[in-house]
Amino acid sequence: MPRQFFVGGNFKMNPITRESKLALAKTLNDAQIDPSVEVVIAPPAIYLLSLREVIRPDVKVAAQNAHYKPNGAFTGEISPAMLADAQIPYVILGHSERRTLFHETSDLVAQKTRAAIETGLSVILCVGETLAERESNKTTQVIEEQLKPVVDTLSEEQWSKIVVAYEPVWAIGTGKVATAAQAQETHAAIRAFLAKAVSPAVSENTRIIYGGSVTAANCKELSKQLDVDGFLVGGASLKPEFVDIINARK
Ligand code: PEP
Repeated sequence: MPRQFFVGGNFKMNPITRESKLALAKTLNDAQIDPSVEVVIAPPAIYLLSLREVIRPDVKVAAQNAHYKPNGAFTGEISPAMLADAQIPYVILGHSERRTLFHETSDLVAQKTRAAIETGLSVILCVGETLAERESNKTTQVIEEQLKPVVDTLSEEQWSKIVVAYEPVWAIGTGKVATAAQAQETHAAIRAFLAKAVSPAVSENTRIIYGGSVTAANCKELSKQLDVDGFLVGGASLKPEFVDIINARK
């Protein structure tokens, strides 16, 4: 069965006002969206429920992070159990901003991933190399090291709840997008790793999406690549061009 094209919008710590949140929802609500695409938007936690109330039902809402414990003395955190109770179906984990700015290790990301999945959530799992790592030919090694703790902690069945987002750190928010060939090469390497480390079926069925300076102008070429199953979009998800990215394969 072909993998369903997936487009996620990571709003990061935007927008600042409730009015601009409503404007973003209106843009999507008024748009013609390719019905074959799974669309998920990830606003800041404070807007999860209010955005879900106003957004069209075929667009899902995701959290940008979650703890691994169901509850407890973890000031400022949100748990997977709370997200599940609020019927938020997805959570982004392992984003490079969380890995770098908030010092999240791959082991912690794996722990969170397992907790989220065991609580019934689906996970957009982000991996990616820095520029220095790419330039020293370590891209595949780095990504395999990021994926390995997740492979070690999940059962084969649990992989049906994972979307892998390949997001080269040098492309995030920089305007410097990976070429279609670079994206395809790395996505194919991730798929080969999943075949070897988990199973051929998981490798075949897992969606691997690309993130890093995706725009309306570059999405079509990227979307034609065999192993590119969609996008995780940051900056452009706050703009009307997000609709063009969702419809990249149309
Ligand atoms: C992201 O934050 O996941 C991202 C891909 O950002 P941008 O599209 O702005 O590079």
